[in-house]
Amino acid sequence: MGALSIRQVRKAYHSVEILKGIDLEVDAGEFLILVGPSGCGKSTLLAMIAGLDHPTLGSIHIGDHDVTHALPKDRDIAMVFQSYALYPNMTVAENIGFALEMRKVPKAEREAAIARVAKMLQIEHLLERKPAALSGGQRQRVAMGRALARNPKLFLFDEPLSNLDAKLRVEMRAEIKLLHQRTRTTTVYVTHDQVEAMTLGDRIAVMKDGQVQQFGTPDDIYSRPANRFVAEFIGSPAMNFIECSREGIDQLQAHGVRLSLTPAHRQSLQSFSGHALVYGLRPEALRFADQGLPGELWMVEPTGPETYALVDTPLGRLTVRVPGQVHQRIGERVHLDWSAEQCHLFDGMTQQRIA
Ligand code: ADP
Ligand code: MG
Repeated sequence: MGALSIRQVRKAYHSVEILKGIDLEVDAGEFLILVGPSGCGKSTLLAMIAGLDHPTLGSIHIGDHDVTHALPKDRDIAMVFQSYALYPNMTVAENIGFALEMRKVPKAEREAAIARVAKMLQIEHLLERKPAALSGGQRQRVAMGRALARNPKLFLFDEPLSNLDAKLRVEMRAEIKLLHQRTRTTTVYVTHDQVEAMTLGDRIAVMKDGQVQQFGTPDDIYSRPANRFVAEFIGSPAMNFIECSREGIDQLQAHGVRLSLTPAHRQSLQSFSGHALVYGLRPEALRFADQGLPGELWMVEPTGPETYALVDTPLGRLTVRVPGQVHQRIGERVHLDWSAEQCHLFDGMTQQRIA
């Protein structure tokens, strides 16, 4: 039995199905990410795990307990949300200790928990302040402290960093990861940010339209995306997609250009019956070369450590990720090269991965 089992969970509001049969098994101590575009059902699923709402069909188990219809207070969970309302009239220490007080935890034990959490989050010097006297980042720490003061079976986070500015978000992301490494509490973390997903998750469930598209490690998701949606959603800049067709049994071409394949690709094409395919190349798979696919440099986007070059080719506009700077000029004739091992093949009809 895993730490959290979600089985065939469906949720409809007024006959509109929002979650369409979710299955996830989360191991004890695991950091699970739910990622997907806005509106795909992440918060709805988290609310079912928290007990704030209940599935229309299916079941949810935490450890050995069927909690499908249990109240939030009976689930032994702690939550941190995007909008973290602290009690304005209470000090930081009182905010952190409040949930323990409600549970009638003795004073000495409560104080020990507050001290432990304050140390972990480096907010010991803020304990006597009221929330109004804190910065956004400090308030977010206190909100996390409230959740951490207890020792729950499950931590639930719903986009906890999205109200913070970019620099603070990166710092807090590292702290959440560090906290998880220390406490090893099973965690479910909702985000629409693919970088947060990749950096924090032991495993990631990529969702779209109320369904899990792929459930795997960050490496699975990035190196072997299950379909074109996952391939496009994870990775920035996004993967290049070239619509192509079959020539004979095991060759692919687009706009008269033969697309290179490995023997393994050709093998999988033997058992594929379709005609239309999509050939995917991540921007880092492409490089400038003396020969290869001809094109014209259309735009250059420097970021500092690397530059994104957009090149118009007979296969369409392709994004190339170049370490450092690009030395070619806008409008210059260039050539692009890549290794066939780096390409991803998708069925042009179903958009599912072929190889
Ligand atoms: P996400 O968190 O992935 O952005 P949500 O889970 O909040 O998405 O919402 C998924 C879909 O469910 C949205 O289309 C939203 O409008 C709808 N939805 C969420 N809660 C309710 C509700 N209580 N009643 C009706 N529709 C809802
Ligand atoms: Mg949401």
